[in-house]
Amino acid sequence: MSETAGDAKPEVKQASKEVKESENVAEKYSAMTVSKNSEINMGELSSVFSAVPTHKPVKKQIQFVEEKQEFSRFPTKTGRRSLSRSISQSSTDSYSSAASYTDSSDDESSPRDKTQVNSKGSSDFCVKNIKQTEFGRREIEIAEQDMSALISLRKRAQSEKPLAGAKIVGCTHITAQTAVLIETLVALGAQCRWTACNIYSTQNEVAAALAERGVAVFAWKGESEDDFWWCIDRCVNTEGWQPNMILDDGGDLTHWVYKKYPNVFKKIRGIVEESVTGVHRLYQLSKAGKLCVPAMNVNDSVTKQKFDNLYCCRESILDGLKRTTDVMFGGKQVVVCGYGEVGKGCSAALKALGAVVYVTEIDPICGLQACMDGFRVVKLNEVIRLVDIIITCTGNKNVVTRDQLDRMKNGCIVCNMGHSNTEIDVASLRTPELTWERVRSQVDHVIWPDGKRVILLAEGRLLNLSCSTVPTFVLSITATTQALALIELYNAPEGRYKQDVYLLPKKMDEYVASLHLATFDAHLTELTDEQAKYLGLNKNGPFKPNYYRY
Ligand code: NAD
Repeated sequence: MSETAGDAKPEVKQASKEVKESENVAEKYSAMTVSKNSEINMGELSSVFSAVPTHKPVKKQIQFVEEKQEFSRFPTKTGRRSLSRSISQSSTDSYSSAASYTDSSDDESSPRDKTQVNSKGSSDFCVKNIKQTEFGRREIEIAEQDMSALISLRKRAQSEKPLAGAKIVGCTHITAQTAVLIETLVALGAQCRWTACNIYSTQNEVAAALAERGVAVFAWKGESEDDFWWCIDRCVNTEGWQPNMILDDGGDLTHWVYKKYPNVFKKIRGIVEESVTGVHRLYQLSKAGKLCVPAMNVNDSVTKQKFDNLYCCRESILDGLKRTTDVMFGGKQVVVCGYGEVGKGCSAALKALGAVVYVTEIDPICGLQACMDGFRVVKLNEVIRLVDIIITCTGNKNVVTRDQLDRMKNGCIVCNMGHSNTEIDVASLRTPELTWERVRSQVDHVIWPDGKRVILLAEGRLLNLSCSTVPTFVLSITATTQALALIELYNAPEGRYKQDVYLLPKKMDEYVASLHLATFDAHLTELTDEQAKYLGLNKNGPFKPNYYRY
C-alpha cells in the first residue's frame, strides 16, 4: 500500500465534500448537553456521532491482492527472517508519539525468546523486561497529571462501564500517554490486547507496567519487521478471545486482520483510526467497496488537526532542534516549507524566539496567511544560500532537492516535520563524493569535498517523533476523542452506522474541548436566549457549522 501523505490528499478532500450534509447532523444533535462544568450524559453519546457516511455503504468482504506476508512463528536464537514486504511506513514514521526514556539496557536478547510472568502468574504478554514495571508505573503517573480531562472522563463513566463486554485490540504507540488511554478503557469495562504501531516508539517500562496490570501487551522498542507482525498477530490470534473493536494508528492492524482473519470482522463493531495514513487506507477500502464495518476517522476531527498538528508541533519543533543541535534560535534565518497546521506551529515558535522566518508555499491562501502573520513568502531557491535552518512540513515529496542541498551554506541544519521521509531528498546524499559522519544519535554531518557540512537530523524522518517527546496534554485531547469514538461505536444500535468511514461531528469536538478547558480554569460565556435566537444556535452547541474553519 502506498502510504505517502501526498496520496492521502484526495481522501481529505473527499471528507470535506460531506460538509453540507453534516450541517444537518450538527443540528440534529444539538440537544446534547455539555454544561458549563462539562458534564455529559454517557447515554447521550450514541446520538452524538451519527455523522453522514462519506461513501455509499457497501457490504463486500475485502480481498488483499498484495503478496503474502508471513512472519517466523517460532522464535529462534539465531535471529529472524525478514518479511518480503518492507515494513509499513506508518510503523516507522508517525507523529503521535515520540522518543522514549526507555532504558538503554544491554540485554540484547529478543523478548520472544524469554518466558516472563507477571505477579499474578500471567504470561499473556511479550515485553522487554517485566521487572521494569515500577519505573513504567511512575511514567504513567506523570502522564496522568497532564491528562486530567481523560482521567475525568474515566471517573465519570467508570460506574456506568460503557465498554463492558468490549474486547479492544489496539495498535498505537505504546507510551505513558497511551497507557493512560488503555487504562481508561479498562476502567470503563473493556478488555484490551495491545501492540505497537511503530517499531521504535515503545517505552519498554510502560509496556511492562501495562503487562503487570493484566493488559496483554506485545511490544518493545527496536522490534524487527518480523517481530512487528508477530506482535500484531499475537494480539489478534489468541485462543478464547476475539476482538469486537479495533483502535488503530496507521492501519497496519486493520490490514492484518483483513488479510489473515477476515472472519474476525463478523464480530467487529467498528474501527477507530487516528492517523492520516490509516484514514487514507480506510477511504481506499471504502471506495473499493471493501470496508465491511463502520470506521471513525479521528484524524480529521478539529480537536486532532488543530491541536496535534498545530500546537504539538509548535512546541516539539523547538524541543527536537535543541536536543539534537543545541542551536540558539535568536537571529537565525529559518525557512519553513509549507504553511499548513504544522508549518504554522513551527513558524510561530521560531519567530517567538527571535528567528527570522521565511515561508515557502504552493497555495495562495496559505501563502497569504503567512504574509499576514508577518512572514516573508519566498521560493526556496531565493533563500537557500542564506538560511541556517530548513524545516519541511508539506506532506509532499522532494521539497528539498540535491541541487538545493549543494547550495546550502556550511552548517545549515536540515530537518523534516512531515509524516514521511520523502520531503528531503536524502537518498541523493548517499553518493561516494559525500562523507557521512554520525556525530550524535539522530544527527549526521554530511560533508562535501570542499569541507562544507550540512547537519541532517533523523535522516529526514519526522523530527519530533525521532528526537524529542510530544506534549502530553495534546495527546490527552486525541486520546479522549479516541475513547469517546470507541464508546459510541460500541454502544450504537445496529444500523446506525453502515460499512463506511464517519467523521466526528462538531458536537463531539466541542465536548472534548470543553473537558480540557477545565485544566485552565477557563470560563466560557453562555449565550442568552436572545443571542441564541439571533444567531440561530442551540445554547448548548454546536456553535459552529461543520464548514467553519478555525
Ligand atoms: P497541511 O495540508 O495543512 O499543510 C501542508 C502545506 O504544505 C499545505 O499548505 C500545502 O499547500 C503546502 N505544500 C505542499 N507542497 C508544497 C511544496 N512543494 N512547497 C511548499 N509548500 C507545499 O498539512 P499539516 O497538517 O500541516 O501536516 C503536514 C505534514 O505534517 C503531514 O505530512 C502530516 O502528516 C504531518 N504531521 C506531523 C506532525 C508532527 O508531529 N510532526 C503532526 C501532525 C501532522
